[in-house]
Amino acid sequence: MASERAILFQGATLWAGGDDPVLEGQDVLVEGDKILQVGKQISAKGAEKIDCVGDVLLPGFQQTHVHACQTLFRGLAEDLPLLPWLQKHIWPLEAAHDPASLKVSAELTALELLRGGTTAVFSFETVRHSEVVGEVYDRLGLRAVFAPCLVDESAGIPALAVETGKALEEIQSLAKRYRGHSRVGVGVAPRFALACREETLRESMLMARDGNLPLQTHANEQLAEVELVRKRTGRGNIQFLLDCGFYGPLVSLVHGVHLTPREREQLLESGMSLVHCPSANAKLGSGIAPVQHLLELGVPLSLGADGAPCNNRLDMFAEMRLTGFLQKISRGARALPAKTILQMATRGGQSFLPGGRQTGRIVPGHLADLILVRQSGWHHCPSTNVLTNLVYSSQPEDVRMTMVAGKILYREGSYPGIDAEEVRLRGTQQRAKLLARVER
Ligand SMILES: [Zn+2]
Repeated sequence: MASERAILFQGATLWAGGDDPVLEGQDVLVEGDKILQVGKQISAKGAEKIDCVGDVLLPGFQQTHVHACQTLFRGLAEDLPLLPWLQKHIWPLEAAHDPASLKVSAELTALELLRGGTTAVFSFETVRHSEVVGEVYDRLGLRAVFAPCLVDESAGIPALAVETGKALEEIQSLAKRYRGHSRVGVGVAPRFALACREETLRESMLMARDGNLPLQTHANEQLAEVELVRKRTGRGNIQFLLDCGFYGPLVSLVHGVHLTPREREQLLESGMSLVHCPSANAKLGSGIAPVQHLLELGVPLSLGADGAPCNNRLDMFAEMRLTGFLQKISRGARALPAKTILQMATRGGQSFLPGGRQTGRIVPGHLADLILVRQSGWHHCPSTNVLTNLVYSSQPEDVRMTMVAGKILYREGSYPGIDAEEVRLRGTQQRAKLLARVER
């Protein structure tokens, strides 16, 4: 017998995640924030019933690297490599954010993520007002870590530089506020080796470890960056981060496009994971990350869209498809089967996102973070293989429903309780105001 907050998905094609096969005609009963029952012909009196015939039910996507603060900058920084892209555009724009512009940037991010089936996210933010981003994820219902960014005076961007002690204090007070929250947590995000002194990296790592907080930084994205780090520190970037105390499953490095064979082994030995952002790596001309090789070594990998200005979508379907394509270009057509890519996309954040190992599978007792994806598009027809459909044919418009912790946050084009058009309008208005502040 189901209680009031129960939802029964009926007759779905089910991919329950992990190594599970695709099964037809499955029912899934969700009660509260958890999956209660999975099987055929489940009866649940009083539960809301959702007919899923012809649709695939699967675990929601976990995007382990996005910048909610940058969504308002979509289209404003085109056709540039990483360092000028940051210096000329992204950093001045981030410095111009006020709480109102950051709030709507985060709302636009959350709404785009939900309509594309992303249920959990690591959100790498800017140096100020990050509490606003946490409030948005909390209110809109996503599972999220939001991480205030650390940039010190060594980066040479006075508008963004924040004194490290003060920045860490602020992160600590946010972490205290969110302690015990079931869905939203706080992370630490030193920008990258070129924007932080060695002490900043060490202290942020120490604080993250003391507080059991996930830490993320960008690393080995472009050759110019790797060479500059070597020039400044006399070491390779990964060795430098290891010397700063970086290790363990709560630490994730983003990009890892240019990694020497030794650095790949160091990554494995350190227990850190790598976030693969194939669209950003392609658009900024960074290169193709050695994903297949890292998987063969056993390095944990996850996927993220990165920021809207270097993508320009926040769409996991696009990231999955490009992940497959790029590895096939570099390692041959047999590289990375669809199931491997889907596993990265649906459980890659388990070691550092809220919910942990209770996410990423549709089995009784796990958290109900689920998505329902149509298989009836022209681009699916004739439909043969569900998993390759999801990776190579599907797109955000195919997502019928997105559920986080048992709550439906997006369904058939709308967000229960949210006026999405008002958010869009406010986004346009806030972008104009933000640009006026940059030009001043
Ligand atoms: Zn990034």
